[in-house]
Amino acid sequence: MELCVIEGDGVGHEVIPAAVEVLKTLFPNLKIHRAGAGWDYFQAHGFPVSEATIELARRCGAVLFGAANSPSYPVDGYYSPIVRMRRLLKVHANIRPISYLPVSTARAGVDLIVVRENTEDVYLSQEKSSNINGEKGTVQKIVTRAATEKISHTAFQLARLAKRRLVTIVHKGNVLPQTDGLFRRVAFEVAEQYKDIQTDELLVDTAAYWMVKEPTRFDIILTSNQYGDILSDMAAAWGGGLGFIPALNLGDDVGIAEPVHGSAPDIAGKGMANPTGAILSAAMLIRYHWQKPQIAEQVEAAVRNTIDEGAYTADVKANGAVTTGEFAQLICQKLQAATAAS
Ligand code: ATP
Repeated sequence: MELCVIEGDGVGHEVIPAAVEVLKTLFPNLKIHRAGAGWDYFQAHGFPVSEATIELARRCGAVLFGAANSPSYPVDGYYSPIVRMRRLLKVHANIRPISYLPVSTARAGVDLIVVRENTEDVYLSQEKSSNINGEKGTVQKIVTRAATEKISHTAFQLARLAKRRLVTIVHKGNVLPQTDGLFRRVAFEVAEQYKDIQTDELLVDTAAYWMVKEPTRFDIILTSNQYGDILSDMAAAWGGGLGFIPALNLGDDVGIAEPVHGSAPDIAGKGMANPTGAILSAAMLIRYHWQKPQIAEQVEAAVRNTIDEGAYTADVKANGAVTTGEFAQLICQKLQAATAAS
């Protein structure tokens, strides 16, 4: 087994080493290759991710990615390294489970999975400034039958695998009939092949309302790239906060584990970051990419038990919080004890 590790920027330098410690505890022979990407890497090298790193990721098949601190204004030569990696490595699905964990910031009963299309929509086309003063910007929204079929099959297969009952298709087809309307039509066509799973639909604005008002209404959400990005951050609040939520970018050959949160520059370098999202993302890599669900369950149980026993990082409560590294150590100790006992 080989793993490409890219810490990226900010708290990526704290939460990714924590997840690596967990993986090393479980797989002592795991071959780890380290590479750089992100804003700091761009400042040093003039590009945010190298072709060699993308090739390394392809060769390893498994990638652990922290976060990139991409600026919100145009910078010559800069692009989001993770968006590029998702496209070039053809990881078509971004799977983001949000479930209740026993912390005061979470909401009981929430247990949903956002399945987000990862290779199209507005993030993947070339944005343009069509005015020399930069006062008019345009971007293309791309939706194809092929990519929608693929992500829809992923969502319904996941529903079967995870024994889920309902897939909710989220779109804005009433305003964008040629793009979101196509997404909706194709998703419903695919749903016909999975009659054992219930299907319904919501306009994205209505979905946002229900996400705030009654998040337990949701089971699996099947949606396009940008809506999935926004709705999964909303849902993260019900899972205890951004630091708790994992994600896996999944393709036919490559899996990129990447916590939902960003580089969190406000807390970076202080040992305050919650590594749960990164550690549970590594568990998703174990479950879906390396196909070792029992080992993934061990990690999930170790995380739950650590939280149950009262350990927390500063995002839950400042008073009595442990550091990122201490929290990860508690999880590793549980895994070592479970291995020794078996
Ligand atoms: P970026 O520009 O990289 O997206 P950001 O700060 O805009 O960074 P996030 O990194 O997602 O976006 O952070 C949003 C908020 O959530 C911040 O207040 C941050 O401190 C908090 N946060 C994010 N990740 C964690 C984490 N792992 N542990 C604790 N708090 C976190």
